[in-house]
Amino acid sequence: MSSSSKSQDLGSLLSDSALFRTQGYINGQWVSASDGVTFPLTNPATGALIADMPHMPRSQVAEAIDAAKTALPAWAALTAYQRSAYLLKLHSLMEQHAQDLGTILCVENGKPLAEAKGEIAYGASFMQWNAAEGLRTYGQTIPSPFPGTRNMVIKQPIGVCGLITPWNFPNAMITRKMAPALAAGCTVVIKAPAETPLSALAMAVLCERIGVPAGVVNVVVMDKGDREAAAGLELCENIKVSKISFTGSTPVGRLLMKQGSSTLKKLSFELGGNAAFIIFDDADLELAVTGVIASKFRAAGQTCVCANRIFVHSKIYDQFAKLLAEKVGAFKVGDGMTEGVTIGPLVNSRGVEKVERHVKDAVSKGAKVLVGGEKIDNGDGSCFFQPTVLVDVPRECAVAEEETFGPLAPLFKFDDEEDVITRANSSEVGLAGYLFTRDLARSNRVAEKLEVGMVGVNTGVIAQACIPFGGVKQSGFGREGGPSGINEFQVDKLITIGGM
Ligand code: NAD
Repeated sequence: MSSSSKSQDLGSLLSDSALFRTQGYINGQWVSASDGVTFPLTNPATGALIADMPHMPRSQVAEAIDAAKTALPAWAALTAYQRSAYLLKLHSLMEQHAQDLGTILCVENGKPLAEAKGEIAYGASFMQWNAAEGLRTYGQTIPSPFPGTRNMVIKQPIGVCGLITPWNFPNAMITRKMAPALAAGCTVVIKAPAETPLSALAMAVLCERIGVPAGVVNVVVMDKGDREAAAGLELCENIKVSKISFTGSTPVGRLLMKQGSSTLKKLSFELGGNAAFIIFDDADLELAVTGVIASKFRAAGQTCVCANRIFVHSKIYDQFAKLLAEKVGAFKVGDGMTEGVTIGPLVNSRGVEKVERHVKDAVSKGAKVLVGGEKIDNGDGSCFFQPTVLVDVPRECAVAEEETFGPLAPLFKFDDEEDVITRANSSEVGLAGYLFTRDLARSNRVAEKLEVGMVGVNTGVIAQACIPFGGVKQSGFGREGGPSGINEFQVDKLITIGGM
């Protein structure tokens, strides 16, 4: 496979260069692809080659599943307190190595270093939350209608779990699944995303350092395409895997559901979003601008809970657009490792093309560019797009229907509460929604009517380890985080005792 002409020495940027691993991790061993094939991993901010990564075939995914199955009984037999102790150690190591873990994440994903370190803190919080929650996976006793009979329900680990994660949160999407799975007593095979495998492998280094037994955590790596699809097939069709937890796009979710039917996998899916962000005429406009920026421009707009359609009441539309444009125009775009940069690149050129298509489509239908609007061509394979604000965006255009996944804020005008709720709910997906108002009754009324799994009222930031994160409609099912997150990795077992 081809490699880029420039290369980057990531190890030299780290104080602990052993966190930078370029092999997969199966059964406690660091391994290359069994046939030696590699693929190039490049930095989206510079186009430079970071490393040649193993392009693992399906047989190695099966090996990882075997290792996880073998390790399962001993891990499941530990007390919840023993597993909790491992998670607390991981939490502490993540905090200790936040600078290095953030640097690895920044270099492979592109998000600015400060934001990358913020993701490490968020990722670590799942270790802390689940270390505590694992101790409280209470069962039940249920009164029986039969004399001399007692019913007990106990919680048991579901078994080997396949964790398939995306590149936009290379650390936190892994820990959000891995922490509750390990706390519950499950073992895991992580299929790392091709764009950001290094953050997953750095977590495996930490697991190795604290003595997590071989086979409990495995990480397989391969490029996009045939071997990625083969890995998905193996995880879905292998009877030794009991559950798939997937975060990614809706089309891949549909495929995994179909494939998983052959072995009746338990599934939880966190899929795509198309969040409506509604700003009523009584909103605190400064707060709303801060909220839009936090929701829309974090990770250069590549988050599933991103404000995708921003609805602004006509009475405050011009004033809001001006305030937002001033802030967005002041963003500093560049390599996330450069001091002061607030917006990094998109993860790849396909991402840039999609934003460009959405801008051109909206403009051809009457929208106007207030800020940005163009891709930035540095001639080096980097993937930048100017942070963009569009006004007078028509009701019908691509950005109203599809998730942009880039730094594009389209402002739609509305006048009527019922109409804006109908427009917000017109999407086939339903992950997150936001509304800004000072009216308490309206905030409750609208929040209840939005067809989504999560609503932010007067805030653009909802993600925390302690909340049930997830969607409705075509955004998937199951919840991650919060008290319900660990249930996804457990089964209820009934024990009925008679003859007492
Ligand atoms: P994607 O679905 O293409 O890829 C996600 C993961 O699935 C990657 O690891 C990829 O390698 C893997 N994958 C792809 N095809 C596969 C197959 N046939 N079998 C097995 N695995 C396969 O999505 P993406 O483009 O990488 O990520 C962006 C999408 O993820 C967006 O739609 C976004 O909304 C969604 N997302 C959702 C959440 C959430 O919590 N709901 C969080 C982050 C991202």
